[in-house]
Amino acid sequence: MVGDLLRTLRGHRPSLEDDSIKWRQGRKGSFRVKEAYSLLDKSNASLFPARGIWVDRVPTKVSFFAWEATWGKVLTLDKLQIRGVQLPNCCFLCGCAEENVNHILLHCIVARALWDIIFGLLDIKWVFPETVKEALTSWRGSFVGKKRKQIWKSIPLCIFWTVWKERNRLAFRGGVVNVQRLKNSFVCNLWNWAKVYLGEEAFSLIGFLEWIAST
Ligand SMILES: [Zn+2]
Repeated sequence: MVGDLLRTLRGHRPSLEDDSIKWRQGRKGSFRVKEAYSLLDKSNASLFPARGIWVDRVPTKVSFFAWEATWGKVLTLDKLQIRGVQLPNCCFLCGCAEENVNHILLHCIVARALWDIIFGLLDIKWVFPETVKEALTSWRGSFVGKKRKQIWKSIPLCIFWTVWKERNRLAFRGGVVNVQRLKNSFVCNLWNWAKVYLGEEAFSLIGFLEWIAST
C-alpha cells in the first residue's frame, strides 16, 4: 500500500507555479481527498494480475476459475453461508479449518503439498501471501529464464485447478483425500500443458521435472 502511494504520488506530484502549490490532478489545482483517493484506487486496479491469469495455452476454463478466485467469487462454504445456506463450514480437503478460497488454494496443508513439489524441485522458499490475488501478483519467477517463463506462469493455475477439482469431488461424491494421487494428478496436468509448447524436454515426465529443476 505504501509502495502504491509512493508510485502514485511520484506520478502526480504537485507543481510550484506562481509561488503557490498546485495539485496537478485536482480540478482548479486544489487538493481534494476524493480525487486523491480515486487516484490510489486506480493505482490498485492496475495491480490486478491479469497476466498471471490469462496465460497462453492454459485452458480457458482454468483461467476463468483463477479469475473468479482472484475476485473472491468462487462458491466456497463461507460464500454459501453468507447467502444464507445452513451448512457447517469445514474444509473438505484437510477437515481442520474453515473453507474459503484463500485457504483451499494457498494455505490448506493439502494444497501446500502441491506447492511444495515445485519449491522442492527448485530449492526455493516462498512466503505465502494472504490472498490468491497477491499470490498471482507476486508470482513473477524472474529467475527462471525466458524459456521456462510460460510453464512457470502456469504453475499456480495448475495447482488451483487440481485442488478445486479434488475439492468438488470430495464435496459432491464424498470420500477422503488421497494426497499422493493429488500430487500425481498435479504433476501430470502440468506436464500435459507443457507438452504443447515444449520440445524434447517434455518427452518424458522425469525429463520434464529435471528440466524444471535445472533453472
Ligand atoms: Zn483445508
